[in-house]
Amino acid sequence: MKTRNQTELFRRLPSVDDLLHEATVISLITSYGHDPAVDAARTVLARLRQEISSGLLDEHAIDLALSDLCGAIETQLRQSLSYSLRPVINATGVILHTNLGRAPLSESAIDHIRETATSYSNLEFDVVSGDRGKRDIQVDRLLRRLLNEDSRQPQLSTIVVNNNAAAVLLALNTLAEGREVIVSRGELVEIGGSFRIPDVMAKSGAILREVGTTNRTRIVDYEQAISERTRLLLRVHRSNFQITGFTEQASTAQLKELARKHNLLLMEDLGSGALFDLRSLGITDESTVLDSLRSGVDVVTYSGDKLLGGPQAGLISGAAELVARMRSNSLFRALRVDKLIYGALEATLLAYVRGDHEAIPTLRMMQLRKETISERVGTLVAQIGTPQLKVEVTDGESLLGAGAAPSAALPTQLLAVTCERLSAADLAARLRHSDPPIIARVEEGRVLLDLRTVFPEQDAAVAAALNRIVS
Ligand SMILES: *Cc1c(COP(=O)(O)O)cnc(C)c1O
Repeated sequence: MKTRNQTELFRRLPSVDDLLHEATVISLITSYGHDPAVDAARTVLARLRQEISSGLLDEHAIDLALSDLCGAIETQLRQSLSYSLRPVINATGVILHTNLGRAPLSESAIDHIRETATSYSNLEFDVVSGDRGKRDIQVDRLLRRLLNEDSRQPQLSTIVVNNNAAAVLLALNTLAEGREVIVSRGELVEIGGSFRIPDVMAKSGAILREVGTTNRTRIVDYEQAISERTRLLLRVHRSNFQITGFTEQASTAQLKELARKHNLLLMEDLGSGALFDLRSLGITDESTVLDSLRSGVDVVTYSGDKLLGGPQAGLISGAAELVARMRSNSLFRALRVDKLIYGALEATLLAYVRGDHEAIPTLRMMQLRKETISERVGTLVAQIGTPQLKVEVTDGESLLGAGAAPSAALPTQLLAVTCERLSAADLAARLRHSDPPIIARVEEGRVLLDLRTVFPEQDAAVAAALNRIVS
């Protein structure tokens, strides 16, 4: 029910038509076009009506709002006509942050997309023969170079789908529809965004046969579960958690032996799927795609935008004959990726073939030495001239993130920021409202910024934002 007072306030609002005859609004129409301007005027008036109904506006507030109606319409117009997907500065120190878009792409990936996607390309065309070609040969060619280190190995092949969840779905559907797949209970994982192994298994039409316990699964557990219905042994990387204490896990070598003995396939969902050796970073418990294939796994699935450092994609590498079957599965057609992804992926993989890891932003961040970060921290601190802000330098750890080596931490140096009159949560919120938004961690009443994940050319923007947010 409207009160009399509210009816009075409603009456003060102009109609959309009235507004469209005002000179200032006419100039907005000229700059932004008729329809967007009318939409914005409607939105602003509707918001005011809503606020009056909820009793948020009194006479004075309405006067204030009406005095700058045109400004409000322009702000609304700008917002509605600007991108909502926009760059942010990742100062969390989590290199592969799923919420922040995982791996930033390399310059060459963007150049290659621009070059091939703004014109026609040979995506599915064999220029030499003039015949129809396959879209994944470029990527397959590079992965053969990267993964086929031993020419005596059976031929390996790779196909690309939308993401690793799709890769697992396609592989299970192709290899084990209607048959049993044995998985350890310690590996029935859920990855963020509702990827759960049992659910994907059900969608694929394969039948889950769980064995062992959460903390211990021995090779005999697998062996006892094998029957004439069994088709596949599946190993799933525990990407985002660790099981410690009284634990046991069958080794990949044991699983391979068992699979061979019973004529079964062995598949591994690696998740992160590194193409470079993480041991160089002191990370020993994360096996690479090559490690997995070397130990005899028939099919490996992994993401394009985790440790690989490329675009969102799911890669399936394995015995050429098995991969060929996945390619001819009609699900593949539904899950395939477009030319933008091939462009970005090809450029990223070419950097690996050239041995140019520095070209891939996430690899560069992983390899950053603490001393280098610490020098940048020093430069940044020197640029902060705001006495209200207390900035300390402290040792800390960066994370790989996105379900890659959950226990692995890289030593770093952090900026720890506090302000007497603002809580850490307020400070972090002000950083998020900077342009571009800066995303930081809040721990123990301090805002922590890790420059490992900040591009060096963004350091100055971080310093400027810190100076601005308390002034
Ligand atoms: C991340 C991950 C997935 C899901 O990969 P997406 O590319 O995000 O679809 C599946 N399995 C494991 C083990 C993972 O780590």
